[in-house]
Amino acid sequence: MNYLDSPSNFDTSTWYPSLWPPFTQIASANRPERVIAARGALLERDNAPPLIDAISSWWVTLHGHSDPYIAKAISEQAKQLEQVIFADFIHPQAERLSQRLCNKTGLERAFFSDNGSTAVEVALKIACQFWENREDHRDQIIAFDGAYHGDTFGAMAVGERNLFNAPFERMMFPVSRVQWPATWWGDKDVNAKEVSAINQLEKLLETPTSAVILEPLVQGAGGMAMVRPEFLNAVEKKVKAANALLIVDEVLTGFGRCGSLFAFQKAGLKPDLISLSKGLTGGFLPMGITMSTEEIFKAFIGDDPRLTFWHGHSFTANPLGCAAANASLDLLEKNPKKYLDFEFRHLPHLKKLIKNPKVINPRLHGSIAAFNIEVNGTQGYLNSIGKALKQFALQNGVFIRPLGDVVYLLPPLCITDDELEKCYSTINKGLETL
Ligand SMILES: *Cc1c(COP(=O)(O)O)cnc(C)c1O
Repeated sequence: MNYLDSPSNFDTSTWYPSLWPPFTQIASANRPERVIAARGALLERDNAPPLIDAISSWWVTLHGHSDPYIAKAISEQAKQLEQVIFADFIHPQAERLSQRLCNKTGLERAFFSDNGSTAVEVALKIACQFWENREDHRDQIIAFDGAYHGDTFGAMAVGERNLFNAPFERMMFPVSRVQWPATWWGDKDVNAKEVSAINQLEKLLETPTSAVILEPLVQGAGGMAMVRPEFLNAVEKKVKAANALLIVDEVLTGFGRCGSLFAFQKAGLKPDLISLSKGLTGGFLPMGITMSTEEIFKAFIGDDPRLTFWHGHSFTANPLGCAAANASLDLLEKNPKKYLDFEFRHLPHLKKLIKNPKVINPRLHGSIAAFNIEVNGTQGYLNSIGKALKQFALQNGVFIRPLGDVVYLLPPLCITDDELEKCYSTINKGLETL
């Protein structure tokens, strides 16, 4: 028996020729529509009314689509210096960006790569080699249940093991797991869940550990599963007491998504390594950055070549990406209220929505609002109820992408009050039809 013993009659030639889409089973997916332009919070389709992009195009579009200020910065940079090898040269955009990020995060070094998964890979490799360089061999890496850190091998290994990575199970390095005490409005068990997770972590930390990796405040792909800042504080205390490194994966939460510039700041953490991507360039270009402390950086410096961090990507610190990121930071600095206050824009809508009995476990951090749909039967990603809601929303001008029974809104900062209102009312109506 193999999986292909249950073949599909799907005729692949009816799909867009030559395209292989991400995270999609084309035998059961709806055919994707063609987008020809995008402005602000709107996606413009071929021969169909515009759609409100209520999830920032997979969580990347920060200010808005085709923001003219960022577009101009990229265009000017493209005419000045489009790319240069970053091993032998540096350039002003990268210098400026790294200095600004150091000022904003309190860390001291920025290592560039090209996406969120590589920003995580780099953090993991730096953490492991940091201890190797000190000849302090540590075998354990700790991550959390439900985590998602990307799709390359290392990032995949620290993520939750599930359907998506099952084919590679035997090829991934071992990772120890701690419960993630996800919580929501009115959750009575939150203290007990947190205590149990901390006890579990403390026990695991008795084994020499190179690093603990977590998504601060919100686990994204794991179902917009939110924890309290107090919990992350308690985690950090244990990690520091065990002298392990703390990696925070801010790929989703960074750049104001959680209501502070970085989520670790809202939680009061002092991480050793930070992974950044997605909103880094305002969502215009792929780029990843791993921030590190000076102490870690220094452990890679010396005459023995084995100390070197032998890692790099062709497009390391691509000047166009750096220009976009600098422009995006300008916009965040110019109008911080946009992300600082976004939570208060969601709040009245979410409070109203939870009167719908199908809405359970409401939760909110900054611009990320989420809830579960009350379902009978299978919970989780493969539950089809979210898919039905997504279809309804699409027909009514709103693009959402529920994670199984988890519905969330994560719009770009430019979304208007009317557009936000439309997202919520469409979801409310859609829930009635389920
Ligand atoms: C999306 C995501 C990643 C992976 O980023 P890619 O750019 O898609 O490789 C890593 N960590 C978190 C928390 C993410 O949300």
